[in-house]
Amino acid sequence: MFPALTDEQRQFVHTIRELAQSEFRERALQYMDGTFPWENMKALAKLGVLGMAVPEEYGGLGLPVFDTALVLEEIAKTCYVTAMAVLGEVGVQTRIISHYAPDAIKRRILPGVCSGDNILAICMTEPDAGTDVANYKTNTDRVGNKLILNGVKTLISRAHEAQMFVVFTRVDKTPGREGIGCVLVEKGTRGFEVTGTYHTMGGENLHEIRFDNVELPPENLVLEDGFRKLLSAFNTQRCLNPSISLGLAEGAFEEAVKYVKERSAFGRPIGNFQGMRWKIAEMYRDIEASRSILYRACATANPFPDPYLAAAAKVTVNEMSLRVTSEAIQVHGGYGFTDEYPVSRFYRGARYGSLGGGTSETLRELIGKRVIDKTDPIDGILALEAF
Ligand SMILES: Cc1cc2nc3c(=O)[nH]c(=O)nc-3n(C[C@H](O)[C@H](O)[C@H](O)COP(=O)(O)OP(=O)(O)OC[C@H]3O[C@@H](n4cnc5c(N)ncnc54)[C@H](O)[C@@H]3O)c2cc1C
Repeated sequence: MFPALTDEQRQFVHTIRELAQSEFRERALQYMDGTFPWENMKALAKLGVLGMAVPEEYGGLGLPVFDTALVLEEIAKTCYVTAMAVLGEVGVQTRIISHYAPDAIKRRILPGVCSGDNILAICMTEPDAGTDVANYKTNTDRVGNKLILNGVKTLISRAHEAQMFVVFTRVDKTPGREGIGCVLVEKGTRGFEVTGTYHTMGGENLHEIRFDNVELPPENLVLEDGFRKLLSAFNTQRCLNPSISLGLAEGAFEEAVKYVKERSAFGRPIGNFQGMRWKIAEMYRDIEASRSILYRACATANPFPDPYLAAAAKVTVNEMSLRVTSEAIQVHGGYGFTDEYPVSRFYRGARYGSLGGGTSETLRELIGKRVIDKTDPIDGILALEAF
């Protein structure tokens, strides 16, 4: 396998697999109603998983993106909701704090992330602008020695569980994308309110949050005019989001393989029919091709991945996951559509992939522009370097 896994990586993945298969698999159905998977999170905190993205000096493991992706993949094979909750702790919000926040804030927040006591939320999307960051309206004014935050964010994960909110905001009403910075808001701060909840087909809840003249100390401004830096950290999500998609596809695939051996029709196991064997072969082929590009993208992270290869990996893996989880339902016949088997859950989770962390449409735009700009008449595709 390229890139090759070290013995430590293999051992860590094996430990997570044992925990996920023995405990998370059974509990997965109970989290479909929006319940936060606290039990699983505590178990993962004990293994150091929640601190994977936190530097060692703040109590974490300080591991590369690739290790984090491997662990998310393994968790997603049993429980999408848990994988998404873990993504909140090892993804963009922790990386923004770890890379850009002042030392005092890192010391205050990051140890709690590692122990699972400090759940983090990221607040980017607004009711009138998701992909279109240049139109974000949330604003933070500097007034004397204070920050005053106003705005509405929506489709926010973990709003009820989070202790800290990493909020993308304009600073002093500076217009455009480059005017976007980032502030930290602690739960319970006056003027902060969760104003709405949506239940999703994946199982988790998403929320609307309102900031009404929220007063913050100046040190809570983590970045101003920092959009490029925020975007670099965000590129990590383009490796971690698809690692969940990959895990969901593998989970569904493993169920499908089991089922074709157990289920009989016309007096023999359905796995004896060429129609089923070819489906299994296609699923396997699709998974392994996608794994290759994703692992390659992860291996470019230093500390953040190549944005274009990560974007290409994300689109590839997200779309593969939908195909494979859908085929796993087909293999299960009518039972695949019920809650009796986990394949319908995998499919519902897989639908998220191409929506969060950059939609497939906008990532195709990004890749297309770069390819047209940079492909060289002499070196051809090699001029794109990462490609
Ligand atoms: C399960 C889940 C969890 C989420 N958690 C969070 C969270 O914790 N924090 C947070 O901030 N957000 C979160 N989101 C929101 C998510 O980030 C947004 O849904 C996403 O960024 C897309 O924004 P939008 O929904 O406003 O869609 P829009 O930006 O309105 O896009 C609508 C459609 O138009 C397309 N489109 C837009 N621009 C272009 C273009 N230039 N070219 C071609 N097509 C285009 C899009 O691809 C999409 O298909 C979550 C969403 C989901 C589903």
